[in-house]
Parts: sequence; structure tokens; C-alpha cells
Amino acid sequence: MITMETDLQRRKMADDSEEDEDLCIMDEGDLYQGDQDMVARKTTSDAADLWTTLKKMLFVIGSAIIIFVALRNSLTYHLQHVWGASGNFWQQQWDRILYTFGDDPFVLMVYGTTVVTFLVYWGAGGLYTLMDVFNKPAFLRRYKVQPGTNEPVETYRLIKCIFWVNFNQIIIGIPFSMGAYYLMTLRGYDQSPHLPTFGWVLFELIGCILLEEAGFYYSHRLFHHRLFYKRFHKMHHEWQSPISITAIYSHPLEHIISNMGPVFLGPLVFGSHTATIWLWCSMVYLSTLNAHSGYHLPFFPSPEAHDFHHLKFNQCYGVLGVLDLLHGTDDKFRASKCFSRHLMMLSLTPPREAIPDVDPNAKVIKCKKL
Ligand SMILES: [Zn+2]
Ligand SMILES: [Zn+2]
Repeated sequence: MITMETDLQRRKMADDSEEDEDLCIMDEGDLYQGDQDMVARKTTSDAADLWTTLKKMLFVIGSAIIIFVALRNSLTYHLQHVWGASGNFWQQQWDRILYTFGDDPFVLMVYGTTVVTFLVYWGAGGLYTLMDVFNKPAFLRRYKVQPGTNEPVETYRLIKCIFWVNFNQIIIGIPFSMGAYYLMTLRGYDQSPHLPTFGWVLFELIGCILLEEAGFYYSHRLFHHRLFYKRFHKMHHEWQSPISITAIYSHPLEHIISNMGPVFLGPLVFGSHTATIWLWCSMVYLSTLNAHSGYHLPFFPSPEAHDFHHLKFNQCYGVLGVLDLLHGTDDKFRASKCFSRHLMMLSLTPPREAIPDVDPNAKVIKCKKL
């Protein structure tokens, strides 16, 4: 009886090992079971790709506007009806700021913008940093774009990052804002004590988003040129798996040309009100903090594209993705699983679990016997 069982087991093991020999060892670049989507996507035309990206861009802008409108309306509603604030809530807040800090346009533009962006950066970025330093709450690690990285973050690198970010915000940022104020005054801008209408703010924000995309994409690509990369942009790429506050961890010259410059284009073109500039800068900082966070959280815009840029260096230079598609600088990204995950997750399932690197249900591809 024992002998029979052993024979059976031996035969089964022999069958298994024969089957193993039939399996291919895949070389890099070969088709593997997780690549079926990638092949299907490659057969689509450039026009279809462009349309898909445009739709995604509209979705991103649309979502941002809807969230902005919803937040504004619900905040206004709650403040007015629950806390008894009066009808013109936002104007009242602006009046209060003018009453407290004065209505000097220089102070509001230069120091006001610096303080507002500083608070937004370290408020939101600080929360992400706490997650990275203490590695808690543990369940959020399931949402990591690059699992196993910065868990926890190295102290020395973190301190170096905090130092340079502060340097850029204060030593570089304040003189930049002074120059910006001078240019805005030359151009002429809205210094009225009355806030612009909601519709006009929305219009300006859309213009700012598009101008920033162009400014950031081309200046960023320029910094990847071999003449400039090593001296300037390499610093930002020290973080192959970024954390939130590395968003403006960059060479000061790059911070001026590629970070602050493109953000300032919109307000300069439109002659925006200082309050609109505060709102726009806060939106930009929240967006770039999320893009560098290393976490793809549910109901947050996808950070996959810029994270992929840090991982692979020569892909996904833009923010919205349209210029990357037009210039073909996102081909590897589009052929990766990261692209399949590049969407706002509307459920609590982590993107890496919803769309795993290798599909567990896919059939293993075998080589034909010659
Ligand atoms: Zn770069
Ligand atoms: Zn970056």
C-alpha cells in the first residue's frame, strides 16, 4: 500500500516537473500574462489616444471645479445656516483680513501669499510627513504607489528636504513675490476691496491651469536636457520614490523657472485679484503635494503619472498629460500597469489590489514545443 502511494506520488511529481519544463522563462520585454491590456492598447490610434487623454483632462478639470463649487456652496451654506453667518460670507472674510492686516496691496500680495502658501504646504504636507515618519496608520500603506519605499522615511533625507523647501519658500519665494508684485503693478491688476464674481474666478482658474501646464511642461523638459539636468534638476530627482513635501525640494533656479514661474503666468495674464491668487496657489500646492505623496488614496486625483516620472526619469513631464501625449513622452507610462491605475479611485480598494501587476486570473502563457 505504502509502495503504491509512493509510486503515485513519484509519477505525479514527474508530471509536474515535465509541465514546469514547458513553461517559458520570460526575458525582459517579452509578453507576460499581465501585458494583455498593454498590447490591446497599443493597437489604438493616436487620435483615439488623444481623445482619451482630452477626456481625462476634462474629467480632472471638471472634478476640480465640481469639488470647488460643492465645497464653496456647502461651506457657505453651513456657515450661514448652522453658524448664523450673514449672506455675503466670503466678502466678509476678505473684509476681516483687510481690517486685521491692512489693505496695502504690497503686503497682501507678497507676505499674504507667502503665509497662505506656507500654511497650506506645511498643513497638508505635514500630515503626509507624519504618515511617512511614523509609518501609521498601517492600513494606508496598502495605498502606496511604490510599496516598501519610505516605510519609514530616512531622517537625514527628510531634514535635508525640509531645509531646502524652507529655503525655497522664504529666501527665494519672498523676493520672487516682490518681483511678481512689481510686474502685476506694471500690468495693472484688481486691487478692489470687493472680491471678483464667482464665475470670473472660475474662468481665471481654468486659464491658470492651462497656462501652468504649458509653462511647467516645457520648462521641466528643458531641465531634463543634459546641459541642465545634472547641475539643476538632479536634486529634485534624488527622490526616486517621492514623499509629499519633496514637491518643491529643488534647486532654487528650478524653483523660480519651473515651479513659481508657470504658476504666476495665469495671474499675470488676467491681472487677478490677490484673493484669487491665494486660492490658485493653494490649489497648486495641494495638487503637487498629492502628486508627490507616494499614496494613491481613494477620491484623490491620481498621483501615478508624476510618481512614474520620478521612477523612470524620462516620462510624464506635464501635469495634465495632454502635452505628454502630443509629444509622445508618455509611451512607456501608457504601456505600464501604472497607467491602468491612473484614475481617481471611487472605492476604498487600493489601486494595486484593484489592478495588480500580474493578473492572478490570467492564464500562464506556455511555449509551443518545437
Ligand atoms: Zn523631472
Ligand atoms: Zn517631482
